Amino acid sequence: QYNFSAGPATLPVEALREVKDELPVYDHVGASVMEISHRSPAYDEIEASAREHLRALLDLDDDWHILFLQGGARMQFYQVPLNFLPEDGVADYVVSGRWGVKAVAEAERVGGVNVAASSEDADFSYVPDVAEWDLTPDASYVHITTNETVNGNQMTDDPVLDVPVVTDASSEFLSRPMDLEGYGLIYAGAQKNVGPAGVTVVLVHDDFLQRRTQPLPTMLDYGTHAERRYNTPPVFAIYMVEKVCRWLRNQGGIDAIHAINRRKARMLYDAIDATDFYRGTVDPEDRSTMNATFRLHDSDLEPVFLQKAEQEGLLGLSGHRSVGGVRASMYNAMPEAGVRRLVQFMEEFERTHG
Ligand code: PLP
Repeated sequence: QYNFSAGPATLPVEALREVKDELPVYDHVGASVMEISHRSPAYDEIEASAREHLRALLDLDDDWHILFLQGGARMQFYQVPLNFLPEDGVADYVVSGRWGVKAVAEAERVGGVNVAASSEDADFSYVPDVAEWDLTPDASYVHITTNETVNGNQMTDDPVLDVPVVTDASSEFLSRPMDLEGYGLIYAGAQKNVGPAGVTVVLVHDDFLQRRTQPLPTMLDYGTHAERRYNTPPVFAIYMVEKVCRWLRNQGGIDAIHAINRRKARMLYDAIDATDFYRGTVDPEDRSTMNATFRLHDSDLEPVFLQKAEQEGLLGLSGHRSVGGVRASMYNAMPEAGVRRLVQFMEEFERTHG
């Protein structure tokens, strides 16, 4: 079986096997990892190792803080403006999909928002070109969504602008090399590429961190978490992030996985483009390597396609409920063989229903 779910999503089988071996007793601590204190040396080691792997994978220097927060990416929609957007200030938002729309709505609760560009009028079938963004000169930050999970588009370049860039990288984090230069903050709900639900990885650059507004509620102040382990972290989720990051380094790191991700995406998009039976929903140059969204020429056949796929062990292929159609999520842990199997299934389905 292959799981194409958009998230929570497929995890490396090696990491899951390790968990099986380590439950109910972790290492030599005499209890499972879910049962030990978050102030214990055993947990300290897990968290330190997760950080070290993330630092190595992304080549993060000491100016970058790594935070493991809760509340999902949606909490970040509010926490980012709360920390960085003064009531009388303006932040620029580039909206290339459904998640960007939600991020704007939360920021508007805090301060001024300028939608600098949006592809909503074209059903988010493309990413607005950076040259066309209508930016505010003294904006507090520019918020983007580098991969739009529902609409299936991805930005291929990391923008470097006059003000710090914040990205919701939830569905592409650790899938490609990132040029960090322009970023002040990067956040990612773990449940796509880095682990199970329950933890959100936040990378914040120290220069940006120092710009936060005051006063802030303690738990929602990034500074609280950058300074120390403040409250009980989601221990099990971080333990999984450690395993997934270690697995990724064993695969050769981000460059190696990126090459595989590109091959998988090419295989699937080539199959979509090879026939009129299927139709991609995003302009070819903006297609996501992580979430491929497509339709069948005859939309009445889509439920049949999805049902048959599931019977064949190809799981989680239905498009997001707001847009319908088909979505194949191909995160790091999806093997090439899974995408090959999907392409074969698509060819068979077309032969029998075309
Ligand atoms: N942003 C993006 C790009 C997502 O894909 C998702 C989840 O699917 C979210 C935000 C919301 O994440 P969460 O459910 O962790 O709050």
